[in-house]
Amino acid sequence: MLLGPVGSGKGTQARRISARYGIPHIASGDLLRQHRQHDTDLGRRAESYMERGALVPDELVITMILERMRMPDAAHGVLLDGFPRTLAQAQALDHELLSEGRELKLALYLEVPVEDLIDRAANRWTCRTCQATYNYRVNPPRREGVCDLDGGQLVQRDDDRMDVVSERINVYIRDTVPVVEYYRERGILREIDGTRDIDRVDQDIQAELSGLQEARA
Ligand code: ADP
Repeated sequence: MLLGPVGSGKGTQARRISARYGIPHIASGDLLRQHRQHDTDLGRRAESYMERGALVPDELVITMILERMRMPDAAHGVLLDGFPRTLAQAQALDHELLSEGRELKLALYLEVPVEDLIDRAANRWTCRTCQATYNYRVNPPRREGVCDLDGGQLVQRDDDRMDVVSERINVYIRDTVPVVEYYRERGILREIDGTRDIDRVDQDIQAELSGLQEARA
């Protein structure tokens, strides 16, 4: 599981981890945006919350993620990104894992000071189709406005506007920091310095994950 505020680099790192270990990257934000693009019932219900930077109600998100985790490609492990974001979601996840005989191995916490977050989100460009993210200073695409991975058009997300980002940060502090503490108390939280460059953060994450594999061997 990857935890961290908006703009902490979760999505970027999650794509790398998922490719390296061959496990699905389950990102609640990406799934919700897909629902909105396809104009599903869930997408329509989630829209107004997402537009103002609020959390989508727990019951909607929990059902969506647990269904995704039960799909065949998730049988050998998954990487969760953006879920859980509330204590109720964390408890629902525990309940589901217990009933399936599965276990949460590690919660990686990407730490970035609040001052940096608004700037990061405001300079973020997202691929309309695969949702990969770019930043023109830190990791620019090879061609301006075009995704390196699938040639999709790069757009700025509506909820990356400065006023919405500040609201998302407030929500994070209020609702998600308790989730971080929940996993810290359980001893499975590992803190990663998210201010370092992308490759360095990647190496620090790999070091934590290889420790995990050794512990299992
Ligand atoms: P971020 O860039 O903050 O990681 P995400 O793409 O994960 O953003 O999420 C975008 C929006 O989707 C959130 O502001 C929220 O409205 C909704 N969302 C995503 N995940 C959850 C969740 N686990 N619970 C409730 N709402 C969520």
